[in-house]
Amino acid sequence: MSKANFTLIGAGLTGPLLATYLAQRGHSVEIYECRPDMRKESISAGRSINLALSARGNHALKEVGLYDKIKLNTIPMKGRMIHDLDGSTHLQPYGQKENEVIFSVSRAQLNMELMTWAEETGNVTIRFNHQLISADLEQNKLMFQLSDSLEEIELSFTRVIGCDGSASILRKSIVEKADIQYVKKPLGHGYKELTIPPLESGEFQIEPNALHIWPRGNYMLIALPNNDYSFTCTLFFPMAGATSFKTVKTEKDILDLFQSQFPDAIKLMPTLVEDFQSNPTGDLASVYCKPWHFVDKALLIGDAAHAVVPFFGQGMNASFQDCSALAILMDQIEDEWTAIFNAFSSTQVENGHAIADMAIENYLEMRDHVNDTEYKKRRNVELKLERMFPGRFIPRYSMVSFHQIPYSEVYQRGRKQFKIIDDVLKADPSGQSIDKAMVEKMLPEPDSSN
Ligand SMILES: Cc1cc2nc3c(=O)[nH]c(=O)nc-3n(C[C@H](O)[C@H](O)[C@H](O)COP(=O)(O)OP(=O)(O)OC[C@H]3O[C@@H](n4cnc5c(N)ncnc54)[C@H](O)[C@@H]3O)c2cc1C
Repeated sequence: MSKANFTLIGAGLTGPLLATYLAQRGHSVEIYECRPDMRKESISAGRSINLALSARGNHALKEVGLYDKIKLNTIPMKGRMIHDLDGSTHLQPYGQKENEVIFSVSRAQLNMELMTWAEETGNVTIRFNHQLISADLEQNKLMFQLSDSLEEIELSFTRVIGCDGSASILRKSIVEKADIQYVKKPLGHGYKELTIPPLESGEFQIEPNALHIWPRGNYMLIALPNNDYSFTCTLFFPMAGATSFKTVKTEKDILDLFQSQFPDAIKLMPTLVEDFQSNPTGDLASVYCKPWHFVDKALLIGDAAHAVVPFFGQGMNASFQDCSALAILMDQIEDEWTAIFNAFSSTQVENGHAIADMAIENYLEMRDHVNDTEYKKRRNVELKLERMFPGRFIPRYSMVSFHQIPYSEVYQRGRKQFKIIDDVLKADPSGQSIDKAMVEKMLPEPDSSN
């Protein structure tokens, strides 16, 4: 493989990881990031404070050698701790095996470790305070604005990769130039981050090894643990309408909402009103775009290619899996960059679209269905089927979070499995007995790659 030069836009979560993969293959990488260096200046890492890391993300971190370091600072979450309106709680485990857990990780910590790891390869330079404002893909020119002086500078590139997130400027240039299919679908719901601080004694106020959910039909509150014994809560809520971010504004509105809907949570949140009024409201949207490249010159990856809503905890995990997938193609198709970019688009686009769709479906499940009797019955059948047909029937959540199965395949298998559960419940509405022979016929053959 001959050495190539890459320009990456964005040093968020995907940019430095991809840079490491490229650098470890001998390529030379320059990353341009619009924000200052968060290792030197105290700035927000943007978006959520903590994230759920699962198998796909862990796999990529292992491939670049960073997993052991990151793992030290993660908190395992075994399942969803459901908080009912009356304050009672119950844990719904994510999986049936000991290792089927997901991990809460600090976004800022992870981002800083990724940047340092990339730089330590010796082949990566990160230029901060450089905001891409436009790209001329014909002439191989990128226009940046420097955030300290507001000066505009033009730089040339050989190959540019957009890791610049959901509002990607590189994507805009590719869409204009290459006439690619692109649609951004707003969810209509946004989010606000709030805090459950530690107890005065320095302990967690609620169970740390769980992802807490207060499902309330049209909206929900969730909480993930942090290493400082606090929890970051996120209220996912309609942007407009009778009960929405437009209508809940004053101290009274906020207290009324929380006292009536989250009475056990409000007791744990002494700075609720202040946090609600001062923290920004983020909006949520899914980005569908196809293809993700322009000849051998430009490529999109991570949220720039497929921003998804956060309800499967997969945006970062999917972005990290993109990097693994691109690395496999680089190793298979040496130096043929048009073929590499083309193959990447052909295989990954449908996976990006599948996880975007599944993430929207999971919002309905989390905020509304998790407490239904019907949902619980289906979940019991699902877990029984998994025990009955190991490796052949894998609950959709597990396929997404604990396996490397491509998302598009997960989506298809998930639909078939949904139908199998329907049929099992048709035969015995209690879900107690399962006709093994009937299910056997409906299942695919075992696949050793799972
Ligand atoms: C509330 C919320 C919760 C989430 N929870 C999870 C979770 O639990 N698990 C999970 O896997 N995913 C989660 N995600 C998704 C995850 O945050 C994203 O998928 C992930 O950050 C994508 O990484 P990225 O590097 O592609 O984009 P980003 O992290 O957005 O990074 C983009 C980078 O590009 C820079 N940039 C942008 N524009 C320019 C420009 N013009 N010039 C130069 N630099 C630029 C930005 O400053 C930033 O550093 C969540 C998202 C949200 C909003």
